[in-house]
Amino acid sequence: MTLKPITGAKIVNFGQLHRQYTALKGPIDAAIEQTLAESTFIRGPAVECFETSFANLIGVGHCVSCGNGTDALYIAMKSLGVKPGDEVIVPAMTWISTSEAVSQAGGIPIFCDIDAETNTIDPDQIESLLSENTVGIVPVHLYGHSADMKRIMQIANSKNLWVVEDCAQAHLTKFNGKYVGTFGAAATFSFYPGKNLGAMGDAGAVVTNDHALSIRMAKFARHGGLVKGTHDIEGINSRLDGLQAAILNVKMPYLPDWTKRRRQVAEAYNQAFAVINGLHSPTTSQNVDHSWHLFCVQTRERSALRDQLLQNGISTSINYPKALHQLPCYEYKSHSDEEFPNASSLANCGLCLPLYPELELDEIQYVIRHVLGFFNAEI
Ligand SMILES: *Cc1c(COP(=O)(O)O)cnc(C)c1O
Repeated sequence: MTLKPITGAKIVNFGQLHRQYTALKGPIDAAIEQTLAESTFIRGPAVECFETSFANLIGVGHCVSCGNGTDALYIAMKSLGVKPGDEVIVPAMTWISTSEAVSQAGGIPIFCDIDAETNTIDPDQIESLLSENTVGIVPVHLYGHSADMKRIMQIANSKNLWVVEDCAQAHLTKFNGKYVGTFGAAATFSFYPGKNLGAMGDAGAVVTNDHALSIRMAKFARHGGLVKGTHDIEGINSRLDGLQAAILNVKMPYLPDWTKRRRQVAEAYNQAFAVINGLHSPTTSQNVDHSWHLFCVQTRERSALRDQLLQNGISTSINYPKALHQLPCYEYKSHSDEEFPNASSLANCGLCLPLYPELELDEIQYVIRHVLGFFNAEI
């Protein structure tokens, strides 16, 4: 965007990663130095510590670390045996990794509309998309709100399908009091720098309670063998490196507090925006503990709101400007917006406001004031 903030405007950036680094500079620098001194760049103690700590945090038996969240999805699907012709149901509104991994594994991504309130895959539509070729479902806990795991698991169990939860945006989200990532056969996480738990480069992991599956996934990620020189299968090279693991180990203990802080910011936004007509503020299902990766409001006046906020120094983000069926790479599927009304509407109306644990109170109030101002609403 080329708009310039008006003079005297405060600057509230959509993301401010350097604040987290500044706060933890001492321990992060020390962890990096230690890794350099040990020169444990691939595998090594920090990676093993990360895998154990993350599995414990989520409450699962096994964590297989890997290069990024996209690889995590691919590793899970290859290890679950996706083969050419297999159909995997994915939400029509997500980051492209979800569908990309299905195609890369040789399968066919089948798009499903999202629920208008939770923005996650609509269980009613899943049933209508099942075919004799369906092998699995990949719910995405979009923006940090859990998908309806009860109904999704019921459908999957009754049809003998696997479920891989895409938890890239949902670290520490809970559904019915249980962490997401513990419901399906496996769950994938991203530690891309801007995620709720972020590395300082690319990083990812797959978690599972299935020991045999965890071994297949670990082997697949490491050239098909866990011991040097053994290649039981052909795999890929996708590893969490020692430096990223060391950084994640420093940050992980802070994640519960950061998540609480995100909830506080979201609550402040939601309370303030309740009075606005013309703005749909995000809702949280009663049985969900939201982790607020993104705070996505919806309005038909998105573009004008976005411009006015930017003129006042507030940057925002559109996640995502197109639903999957609207992307050039899926034109071959010849879908229409009518098939996915909720995903299409979110692509047209969704706008994500700054939300991160380091946001200061006066910045939250500044954002609120300018959103209310745009709609001529009172504080
Ligand atoms: C970020 C993200 C991914 C991919 O993670 P990377 O680490 O960037 O590869 C996958 N799915 C969703 C929903 C994401 O938001």
